[in-house]
Amino acid sequence: MAQHFLLTSAARTLSLKAIFRMSDDEAHETFTAIRFADNGGAAFCPRCQCTAVYTYTVRRVWKCKACNHQFSVTSGTIFASRKLAIRDYLAATAIFVNAVKGISALQLGRDLDVQYKTAFVLAHKLREAIAKEQSDIQLSGVVEVDGAYFGGHVKQENQKADRKDRRLASEQTGKRQSVVVVRERNGKTLPFVVAKEADAVALIRERVAMGSIVHADEAGGWDRLHAYYDVMRINHSVAFSKDGACTNQAESYFSRLRRAELGQHHHISGKYLAAYAVEMAWREDSRRMPNGALHQAATAAALAHAVSRVWAGYWQRVRS
Ligand SMILES: [Zn+2]
Repeated sequence: MAQHFLLTSAARTLSLKAIFRMSDDEAHETFTAIRFADNGGAAFCPRCQCTAVYTYTVRRVWKCKACNHQFSVTSGTIFASRKLAIRDYLAATAIFVNAVKGISALQLGRDLDVQYKTAFVLAHKLREAIAKEQSDIQLSGVVEVDGAYFGGHVKQENQKADRKDRRLASEQTGKRQSVVVVRERNGKTLPFVVAKEADAVALIRERVAMGSIVHADEAGGWDRLHAYYDVMRINHSVAFSKDGACTNQAESYFSRLRRAELGQHHHISGKYLAAYAVEMAWREDSRRMPNGALHQAATAAALAHAVSRVWAGYWQRVRS
C-alpha cells in the first residue's frame, strides 16, 4: 500500500523548531520577502505602489519617496497593530496549517504562550485571510452536493435524572444550521451556511456552471436542482453508490468539519460556523500540499489581506 502523503518527508517541509530559532531580523526578512514578493521581496509603498522608498533599519519601517507614506511590513495587513513578535505570527501560522482538523484557541494559546483572547483573534484572522482564497471559486464538471446540520446542541446535565430528551421539539434550541457543501470532483470545495438545505439552491446556481453534472442524495431540497442541471441522485438508505452516483468527497469534507467540531472546538457557535466551514474547505483543497507551501500560502494570504473589519480591535469593542 502506498504511504499516506502526510507521512512522507515531501509533506514535511516546514519546521516549527526553525521558526522559533529565528532572530527578529530573520523573521522580519521572511515577512518582507512574502509580503513584497511581487517586487522580488523589496519593499514598495502599499498606498501608491511606488518602489522608491527610504529604509529605516533600526525601527524596521520604510517611507515612500513619492507620497511620504510610512509603513512597516505588517501595516495595512490583517496583522496590522501587531502585539507579538513576527516570529510568533510565523509560529502561529505553522501550528494552524499543521492542525489538519483545525485548532482551538485554547490549544493555540498554550502552544504560543499567549492569552486565550490573543489566540482566538489570531486564529480567526488567519481564517478570514484564507477564506478570501476560497471566495471567488466557480465550479464546473462533475459536482457533488450534500448538506449536514451543525450547532444548536442541548447541553447534557451530569446527573442522569436531569438529562433532557434531545429528541423532544421543546428541547431543540432552534440554533441548528445547515452547512451545504458543493465539491468539484478532484477540484475545489465551496461551503454555504444556510437555515435549511433547500436555501442553498440559489447559491449553487450562482457558483456552479450550467452544463455541470450534479450528484446529490435524495433529500427533497435538491429536487429543484433538476431544473438547472443534469442531476444524479443517490439513495443512502438503499446503497452507498447507485448507478455511479456518489457523494463521497462531500462526505469526507463533512467528516473533517465534524472532527474539528467535536475534537477541537467542542461546540461551534452559529456565528462562527461559516468561518470554520470555509477553513475546512481550504484544508481539504490543500491536503496534498507540503506544509511548507501551505505555510507560505497562508502567510501570503494574511499579508495580502487588508485590516480585518471584524477582528481588528475585537476585544476592545466587545469589552470583555
Ligand atoms: Zn507612496
